[in-house]
Amino acid sequence: MSLLFKLDQTCLPIYGCKSMFPVRRIYCVGRNYLEHIREMDGNEREPPFFFLKPSDTIIQNECDFKYPPMSNNVHHEIELVVAIDKKVKNISASNALDCVFGYGVGIDMTRRDLQSTAKKMRRPWSLGKSFDQSAPCSPIRTVLDSGHPSKGRIWLAINGEIRQDGDLSHQIWNVSESIAYLSNFFEIFPGDLIFTGTPAGVGPVEVGDEITGGIENVGELKLTVR
Ligand code: MN
Repeated sequence: MSLLFKLDQTCLPIYGCKSMFPVRRIYCVGRNYLEHIREMDGNEREPPFFFLKPSDTIIQNECDFKYPPMSNNVHHEIELVVAIDKKVKNISASNALDCVFGYGVGIDMTRRDLQSTAKKMRRPWSLGKSFDQSAPCSPIRTVLDSGHPSKGRIWLAINGEIRQDGDLSHQIWNVSESIAYLSNFFEIFPGDLIFTGTPAGVGPVEVGDEITGGIENVGELKLTVR
């Protein structure tokens, strides 16, 4: 018997470079901007928490986002994405940035209705968060190119109208702290991505919408909802 399929490795382009960044895992920080916690009625004093998306949920810049099944309330969450290129565990926040290769602009697409049901019923978030195409991501901007952005505008617009407009400096847990905390629970590997949470202003997308988003000095992302 022979297997007649092979799996594709998900990769992201790198600005200014012909090589691609191969993606291993996608970790996402749950709540990381105060104004967003308030709009979701969350507890403001909790340590960060994480969920995961499979690497094949990535869709590339300037692609179509197909409105997913089993939901009538799909939300956008614009996020700074950290791309890792070293293996680390139990790393301190003061050393954590050494394992960062670069940064990207991602959208943590969320079936909010399914996530809300899961919250109420104390079930896992996979159906709400980890569905096909739920992780659109821009090309990666290398640290050599952009440094480590700790402040700068992060925004998302639908059909040209601004919906999310925040600043990276408003993250409760900065990139160093998120990596350090995550590395206590998982050994972090080259190819891992961390979506670092979204500012306020999340809301629904509809078929036909043009979604644009960006982060100052990192990049921009554009999608059409089909
Ligand atoms: Mn998110």
